[in-house]
Amino acid sequence: MSEYITVIGIEVHLQLSTKTKAFCSCPNLFGAPPNTLTCPICLGHPGTLPVPNKKVIEYAIASALALNCTINANTRYDRKNYFYPDLPKGFQISQYNIPLAEKGFLEFYAGDDWSHPTRWGITRVHLEEDTAKIIHTDDGALLDFNRAGVPLMEIVSEPMVSSPPEAYYYLRALKATMLTLGVSTCNMEEGSLRCDTNISVGRKGEGLGTKVEIKNLNSFRAVRLALEYERDRQVEILSNGGEVVQETRLWNEKIGITEPMRGKEETADYRYFPEPDIPPIVIDKKWINEIENNMPSLPIERMNTLKVAGVGIQEATTIVERPDLYAYFDECLKYHDNKRSLVNWIIGELNAIAQKKGIDYSDIPVRPKHLAELVRTVDEGKVGASAGKEVLLKMWETGKSPDELISEMGVERISDEDTIRTIINEVVGENPEVVASILKGKDKAIGRLIGEVMRKSGGSADPGIVKKLLSEKIEKMKEVN
Ligand SMILES: [Zn+2]
Repeated sequence: MSEYITVIGIEVHLQLSTKTKAFCSCPNLFGAPPNTLTCPICLGHPGTLPVPNKKVIEYAIASALALNCTINANTRYDRKNYFYPDLPKGFQISQYNIPLAEKGFLEFYAGDDWSHPTRWGITRVHLEEDTAKIIHTDDGALLDFNRAGVPLMEIVSEPMVSSPPEAYYYLRALKATMLTLGVSTCNMEEGSLRCDTNISVGRKGEGLGTKVEIKNLNSFRAVRLALEYERDRQVEILSNGGEVVQETRLWNEKIGITEPMRGKEETADYRYFPEPDIPPIVIDKKWINEIENNMPSLPIERMNTLKVAGVGIQEATTIVERPDLYAYFDECLKYHDNKRSLVNWIIGELNAIAQKKGIDYSDIPVRPKHLAELVRTVDEGKVGASAGKEVLLKMWETGKSPDELISEMGVERISDEDTIRTIINEVVGENPEVVASILKGKDKAIGRLIGEVMRKSGGSADPGIVKKLLSEKIEKMKEVN
């Protein structure tokens, strides 16, 4: 495999989650009854005039900034002319040679590698409108115009010398970035994130291979599997002396292969020209600054901060890919500054209870302040970790503060030496055979005594102090003997 180079490109279409559509005031909502969110503009009636939605442009500017792109000060919409039943007006409002932004990059950590981030080039970010949705039924095809005119943002990556797993992590990082900005719901099942990919395999030193496009990808996992399949297929063709055909192939999820798309794809001439009904869009520095100043910290920045704080890459990825979790964590940080402990509690114990109870993170009844207080108490050694978990469950159920529950439940860690000595004396008295074997040199048996002391204290005794005092006791007994 090493004599081949794999080059991968990815195109992502995101529906922007603005309140209204791109060029009319119809609500932009998923899941409404068909054709209830329409007007003459998004139905494409002749003579209607589109009015660009300012929020769409602002969302795209924020995305472009997050992708380190150059924003074109003078951009515009163009008409892409073609007819299809889902586009009966005969053209799509899109962007052609002056996209909103271009020449950027996205940095992300690929897989388990915490050593340094990977960087993927971004060719362009442009805006367009979605088409109506075709619903195929036994009786024929139906059209739902609720989707017509919904704002779409297309993000095209550079062709990258890369691997299928890296492409998969690029997509995850891109999604996390867009979710963090709040510009899209990025839901592949609902179609608010769609992606196509292309791949070529070439022999090292012989330039690029022939590009094959892959469509019909319904999940990031499918992208990865399809790319892996396609890479292997192309390598096999080349190693047998064959030639890869330039074509579009469809991923067949059921049998896990790519297949040639039926029917020849025409290279259509879309006769792009500037959209005459929308004036050019001027994006000045002031506007960009305003948007930039209101942007949250980005996933890559959050990852880097967590890395420095000693959080593991899996834990960091989990919390950064979920902006709702991260917001909760961020709120907790106001009350306790141990990032590593907080992340572990949030994605560990708190998440486990949420999943068991089937509750969304945004509805978690435990206040961030309370969780932070609990984690601090555990970090300070005042409550053991397992007792802390019980306290958390009670916090969830009662809404009470950790301090209140810790004293109510009597789980405060016993570090008072006299109290612990009393328990040790009891345990030593009750286990003469174990003590005898320790005195004969079986030091390992001391663990059984520690276990007994912990059990008698209801798990509350400070294990460090128990160990210390018990060792002292044994030493004294050895001297006497
Ligand atoms: Zn409309």
